[in-house]
Amino acid sequence: MAQIVKRAYKYRFCPTRAQAEELARTFGCVRLVYNKALEERSRAYTLHGRRVSYVESSAALTQWKKSPELAFLGEVSSVPLQQALRHLQAAFASFFARRARYPTFKSRKKSRASAEYTRSAFRFRDGQLTLARMNAPLDIVWSRPLPQGAQPSTVTVSKDAAGRWFVSILVEEKIAPLPPVERSVGVDAGLTALATLSTGEKIANLTCERADRRKLARAQRVVARKEKGSNNRAKARLRVAKVYARIADRRRDLLHKVTTRLVRENQVIAVEDLTVRNMVKNRSPARAISDAAWRDLRMMLEYKAAWYGRTLVAVDRWFPSSQLCSTCGTMHDKMPLNIREWTCPACGEVHDRDVNAARNVLAAGLAES
Ligand SMILES: [Zn+2]
Repeated sequence: MAQIVKRAYKYRFCPTRAQAEELARTFGCVRLVYNKALEERSRAYTLHGRRVSYVESSAALTQWKKSPELAFLGEVSSVPLQQALRHLQAAFASFFARRARYPTFKSRKKSRASAEYTRSAFRFRDGQLTLARMNAPLDIVWSRPLPQGAQPSTVTVSKDAAGRWFVSILVEEKIAPLPPVERSVGVDAGLTALATLSTGEKIANLTCERADRRKLARAQRVVARKEKGSNNRAKARLRVAKVYARIADRRRDLLHKVTTRLVRENQVIAVEDLTVRNMVKNRSPARAISDAAWRDLRMMLEYKAAWYGRTLVAVDRWFPSSQLCSTCGTMHDKMPLNIREWTCPACGEVHDRDVNAARNVLAAGLAES
């Protein structure tokens, strides 16, 4: 049975000078409103042990707009400001549910600048998207078509550190599940490969990534040599952001390809449940990068499995997937990470460490599902 899902389509666009100025102003107001509301919530929380609601924050925003020093908030569309308060509300809900850390301030330099427009604040007609307070539609590079007859419900405009403008358009889309298949697969997150499958296949990390990372390191050293606050430093930082953006883009493309394939080919996909809370304890940079990739892979598998009628099972992180022999089921001592291959003393089977782990993850996943 086909289901209706919400799906975001992201495109680059090129703003006119007036649009860029309007958006920069809006980004600034969004950040200010978010930070100010966060400050007030933090005060109520620490001083009075009290939770502030979205309605209260929204009433406060109305008051801010009336004060002379914040009257400029009334010069941009009010919708992105309201949406910022909704995001803050969601961040606090996650914090209280112990799913996330305490919300932090949006920084001018480090946070991604963005503004979210709901239906009342944009017009989508004849394939043209016009935002509130703008006369002309955005000049969007339609790198792939929106689904036929799609009616966007939310539009998010952002600018990344590399200076690129993006618009993400949320639409409702009808997605039909794929025909059922017999195969199932276990996936092990690795350091050496992006992922190892229970079939024995290893999905390699991007080969170009090593070169890109060298370029990144070089660009970062250049930044360190430039005088703080200088134009040259700003230029060097932009260079770093561009290399970084390229790494992130390529990695996302690869993860999309891999996850689409896994979901197409398998009815049940078993993965290790590496939760965010457990992962932040790992400090090594290599580990942090592979954790980030794994998190994205997991998230993509989750929604694609739901779209296409597949089952994703997360196996407990503390399940000893590396210590069990997947052939005879004998439990062995914990193995140091540098041992990539081992022979089971009980049955004599020679195991690749990651493939063995992936097989065990599959078995545990099938037992759970
Ligand atoms: Zn064995």
